[in-house]
Amino acid sequence: MAVSLLEQWPPVLSKVQLESLTLQATTYALSHGLVYLPVATVQPPAPTSTIHAPLALFPSPFPRRLFQHAQRLQRIYNVLYARVAMDEEFLDRVMGEVEGVGKVDEFTGQLWRRWRKLRDENVPRPLQLGLFRSDYLAHAPGNGEPTSLKQVEFNTISSSFGALSERSANLHRYLFKSTQYYEVSSHLREENFPSNNTVAGLAEGLAEAHKAYGVPNARILFVVQENERNVFDQRWIEYELLEKHGIHVVRQTFRQLGQSVTVDSATRVLRITTPSGLLSDGSKSVEISTVYFRAGYTPTDYPTPEFYDTRYLLESSRAIQCPSIQLQLAGGKKVQQVLTNPGVLERFLGDSSRWGTEVFTPAELDELRSSWMDMWGLDEDVPNANPTSGPANECSGVRRARELSAKLVLKPQREGGGNNVYKEAIPAFLDSLPVQEREAWIAMELIAAPEGLGNYLVRAGGGTEGAVKAEVISELGIFGWALFGGADGRVKEKEIGWLLRTKGKDSNEGGVAAGFSVLDSVLLI
Ligand code: ADP
Ligand code: MG
Ligand code: MG
Repeated sequence: MAVSLLEQWPPVLSKVQLESLTLQATTYALSHGLVYLPVATVQPPAPTSTIHAPLALFPSPFPRRLFQHAQRLQRIYNVLYARVAMDEEFLDRVMGEVEGVGKVDEFTGQLWRRWRKLRDENVPRPLQLGLFRSDYLAHAPGNGEPTSLKQVEFNTISSSFGALSERSANLHRYLFKSTQYYEVSSHLREENFPSNNTVAGLAEGLAEAHKAYGVPNARILFVVQENERNVFDQRWIEYELLEKHGIHVVRQTFRQLGQSVTVDSATRVLRITTPSGLLSDGSKSVEISTVYFRAGYTPTDYPTPEFYDTRYLLESSRAIQCPSIQLQLAGGKKVQQVLTNPGVLERFLGDSSRWGTEVFTPAELDELRSSWMDMWGLDEDVPNANPTSGPANECSGVRRARELSAKLVLKPQREGGGNNVYKEAIPAFLDSLPVQEREAWIAMELIAAPEGLGNYLVRAGGGTEGAVKAEVISELGIFGWALFGGADGRVKEKEIGWLLRTKGKDSNEGGVAAGFSVLDSVLLI
C-alpha cells in the first residue's frame, strides 16, 4: 500500500502520547454514544451503564481510488439485489425448497416456505425496503500494493454499524482536531477524512418507506433481539427518525410480537397492541407502516416454529418489510455465487427488453464483475478440477475445494459471523460434510488483504491493557437503500455511507459484535 512505502502505519507514538490519545478516545466514545451495553446474562429493561465500543486510535489507510469504486458500485448493487428479490422464478430455483438451497438448509427452507405460502394465498405484496451493506477488502495479490477492490459479501438484512461507524469517523476527526495526531504523519490531513452521514441515510430510507405507506401517524417497528448489546447503533436511527422526520418507533422482540401483533383480515393493517403503557406515549395500539428487522437473520432468532409464523404474520400485512423474506433470501451467499455464473448479471441489469431504459452499460457490468472473487457451489461440477484427487465419488466442486483449500473460505447460508470454514480446516470439514448438505455451501477464493499495516486497538470497555498495537486488516462496508416492488417495477435507491472495521491480521473473521474486530474509519491515501 502506498503508505507502507512512505512510512510505518500506525505512526510511532511515545508512551505519553499513546496514553493521552487513548484517554481522549475512550472518553469521546463514552460521551458521544460510540457505545454498547455491558455484558450481562440478561440485559436490564432500563440499563444504567454503557461501555465504549472496540475502537482503533488512528484511521486506517484505504486507497482513494478503491473507496470511490466501492461508492460507485453501490447504486448498481442496490438495483441488482432489488431485482433479484423481485424475481420469483430465480429465487425459487436458487433458494427454494424444491429445487434450491432450501431443500438441504433448514433455516432457508423455513423462510422460503413462509414466502411460498404468501404467494399461494395470493396475499397482495406491498413495496419493499432494503437497507443494504456491501462489504469489501482491498486486494493485494502477491503481497504487493492493493490493485483492486473485492467484495466479501452483500448484506440485505440487519446491516449493522451504520450509526457507530459514523461516530467512529467523528472520533478520528476529533482526535485529529484535538491533537493533530502529534503531526506524526503527512497523510493525516482534513481532506483525507471522508465524510460519513450514514445515520441520516438509513433514516431517510426508512422515512421514504413510511411516506410511501401513506399514514403519517403510523409508526416504524424495529424487530430486535433479546439481550441485544448493540442497541445504540439502532437507537441513533430511532432518534434521527423522530427528530428529522417526526416518525415514532416501536421496539419489540419476536417473542413480544408473538403476543402483540394483529393483522386485520380485511384491510391487512398491521397493529401492535399492548395491554398497557408499553408504548412511550401510553397508547395501547398503533398502526405500523414499516417493519425494520434487526433480528431474524439467524436460526437462533426462531427457537420454535411459532417464531417463523410471527414472521409470516408480519409479512402478510400491508406494512413495508425491511427486508421482506424474499429480499433476505436474495442476500444468501448462494445467490452471490450464482450471480457470477455467465449471463446472470446481464439478465438482471443488461436486458433492455425487460428493464427498458433502466439498464446498465457493459462497462458498468464489467466494473461490478471486477469486484468478485472466484466462487462455486460445493455440489457443482466445475471445470479444471483435478480428476484424480479425493475420493472417487466426489463431484468436481468438492475436489477443487480440496485442491485449493489453502486459498479458500467455505460459506453456508448464514449471517452474523462465525459460520465459515477457512483454509487448513477445509479438508477435514469436507470429509465430515454429508453429501446432501454440500448444496448449502459455497467455496470462495480468499481475498489477499494488504499486509504490513497496523493500528492501536482499544478493546470494548477499555480492559486494563489500554491500546494494543497489532497488525491489521480493514474491511470496508458501503451502505445503500432501495425501495421497490411497485407495479411499475422501478427501484428508488441511494448510496448513503460507509463503515470501516479492522481486525487483527491473524483472525479469519471480522465481526465487531462477535468480538473479532474494532470500529475504525477511512484515511484516504
Ligand atoms: P457473515 O455474513 O457471517 O458476516 P462473511 O462472508 O462476511 O459472513 O464472512 C465473515 C468474515 O470472513 C468477513 O468479515 C471477512 O473477514 C472474512 N472473509 C469472508 N470471505 C472472505 C474472502 N473471500 N477473503 C478473505 N476474507 C473473507
Ligand atoms: Mg460479513
Ligand atoms: Mg453477512
